[in-house]
Amino acid sequence: MDYQISVKDLSFSYNLKKVLEQVDINISKGSFFCIVGPNGSGKSTLLRVISAALKPREGVVIFEGTDINEMKIRSIAKMLSFVPQNTSLEFDFKVSDVVLMGRYPYVNKLKGETTQDFEIAKRAMEYTNIAHLRSRNFMELSGGERQRVILAQALAQDTDILILDEPVSHLDLQHQVEILNLIKKMCVDRKLTAITVLHDLNMASAYSDYIIMMKDGKIKEQGTPFETLTAANIKKIFDIDVYVTVSPIGNKPYIYALTKPSIDKKGIRIHVICGGGSGSNIIGSLYSEGYDLSSGVLTIGDLDWKISKENDVQIAEEVPFVGISEEAYAKNKELIASADAIVLTGLYLGKSNIKNLEILLDKEMKSKPLFILEDENFADRDYTEGAAAKLYRSIKAGGNVILTDSKMLKEEIIKAVRTHGKRQE
Ligand code: ADP
Ligand code: MG
Repeated sequence: MDYQISVKDLSFSYNLKKVLEQVDINISKGSFFCIVGPNGSGKSTLLRVISAALKPREGVVIFEGTDINEMKIRSIAKMLSFVPQNTSLEFDFKVSDVVLMGRYPYVNKLKGETTQDFEIAKRAMEYTNIAHLRSRNFMELSGGERQRVILAQALAQDTDILILDEPVSHLDLQHQVEILNLIKKMCVDRKLTAITVLHDLNMASAYSDYIIMMKDGKIKEQGTPFETLTAANIKKIFDIDVYVTVSPIGNKPYIYALTKPSIDKKGIRIHVICGGGSGSNIIGSLYSEGYDLSSGVLTIGDLDWKISKENDVQIAEEVPFVGISEEAYAKNKELIASADAIVLTGLYLGKSNIKNLEILLDKEMKSKPLFILEDENFADRDYTEGAAAKLYRSIKAGGNVILTDSKMLKEEIIKAVRTHGKRQE
């Protein structure tokens, strides 16, 4: 296959510091090509070498068969436009002049710009939706508008290759999407090749045809988003734990960061009686505050069971469809007995889990502070023809019951534990 750009065995050093080592890349025409990697991995340097702004120490950059270092600056400028990181202008130019500057490789110094140059600049402004800004000063524009002007300038340069170093890093989400959509459109409509550095891996996934992952001046992985953006590769390159799933939009990998702060443990354990997702928020928020947690009895595979598993919660569990066995009940009792407090969430109650209420009337359990997350809809959650409601009334009549809601829960727990003291380890 013929590539538009080939980088072969490239190395580069600033003085003695080796910044790029044995880089090999092939880029096809019309592709959205993305470079990702931690700060200092050599991404900007690589773009500068590909743009011929820096000369490689070893290796070559080949454009459609020709070594870029054997080409004249003007011919390079007709082939590629390079937008460096943090593009700023020294002087305050009018938008239309900034765009017209893109015509510099074509303009004859004696004759100046031709009608054709003005026409091309005008079309570039229309394409990037900045025609209405033509008479404004560049420095007065918002970040998103400036970036569109820079793209219009690159477009006016009428090159086949657009090299952009972090084109959306300083923009809010709306403008990031707007700029990346515009670049992608240029790839599809005009067969333009875009080579970009992006920090957001989900953006890289959504827009790129091909991704290279750099670290310490070397290419560690390259390929399609699915080939490169795996949890193992992201761990290796960025040293973060992620969960990768498939985005329902566009069938691309979607990455969730899993980093959890290591919060000091409070030495307090809360037992959560929940099910069906009624405990998920409580478990997540108590866990993130440093409480130790237990839960039960939960059916294996239940949403609260999954959340419990993910958050290091001790679980009294039961297989589906059998109700709560004596064993599971005993395990639940054991967990409650050694907890500092109990939380009862707004779970649905049926024959299979009614023992999760019964346990709260057990003599040994009665001395524990019990937080009930009250709602008015108990009847809607009762699938036991009133048996659960009867138990619920008896439970509420007990001595250590605190009716609360999920907002107040943490405060109430702190208050109660202060009065009752922590459990004995
Ligand atoms: P990235 O864009 O991935 O953050 P850079 O290519 O900017 O990485 O930098 C790679 C390495 O080269 C870094 O260690 C950086 O400090 C160094 N470096 C970048 N530019 C220069 C320069 N002009 N002179 C000396 N060292 C530089
Ligand atoms: Mg950089």
